[in-house]
Amino acid sequence: MKILVAVKRVIDYNVKVRVKADRSDVDLANVKMALNPFCEIAVEQAVRLKEQGIATEILVVSIGNKSCEEQLRTALALGADRALRIDTEAAPDALSVARLLAKVAEAEQPDLILLGKQAIDSDNNQTGQMLAALLDRPQATFASEVKIDGKTLQVTREVDGGLQTLNVTLPAVVTTDLRLNEPRYASLPNIMKAKKKPLEVKTAEALGVTVASNITLVSVEPPAQRSAGIKVGSVAELVEKLRNEAKVIA
Ligand code: AMP
Repeated sequence: MKILVAVKRVIDYNVKVRVKADRSDVDLANVKMALNPFCEIAVEQAVRLKEQGIATEILVVSIGNKSCEEQLRTALALGADRALRIDTEAAPDALSVARLLAKVAEAEQPDLILLGKQAIDSDNNQTGQMLAALLDRPQATFASEVKIDGKTLQVTREVDGGLQTLNVTLPAVVTTDLRLNEPRYASLPNIMKAKKKPLEVKTAEALGVTVASNITLVSVEPPAQRSAGIKVGSVAELVEKLRNEAKVIA
């Protein structure tokens, strides 16, 4: 079984996000970037399937400029076999990403495509769904458990009211949720080995896709500043403040 995993370079989730002074976007200057956490979970799942002898090859794909190769190397160090970067300077919208991934999938014919359920920068939660539609393949989003039985994939999904279990026939598209697994750390020897693994670069044009965006970012606002809290001296004082200042109790 061949697995394709789409991975995105995003701002590290530990970083306190700053907004540019003109509010035009998030400030990415000198900010630590990382593999999108849900993509890391997708890579981990692919590696586990390979360790179980179910998967034979893992291809990781990222769309973006040269800096994305850092995250592709991380995915290779975690256990992927080869990497592909689709070069684009423009930030592609979810539909462009899905179109490019569809072209790669048509050429590579993976049995399973794993994506994160969402990228933590744009929070779109769209790419996997669009990709499944473009490829006309079954999709199971927000996976918290995956079991494979021959050509059938049993996916437990995290839905609002609890868990839903679906059977999908391979080839299929699956997006990962937080509880699917706990990704490993890349070991130093594997980081060294990853430097020698194949990393190919193609342009979006070579794949016949024009990277466009139908979305204009109008402005970015930081969350309102929280005012400092206070310490109260007694339960009576707390009750008095809740009643007379916050007015949340009668
Ligand atoms: P989104 O729909 O933008 O929230 O992203 C969902 C998932 O699509 C991500 O977790 C990735 O697996 C994939 N994806 C989105 N953008 C890219 C990109 N530029 N390169 C590779 N994969 C991407």
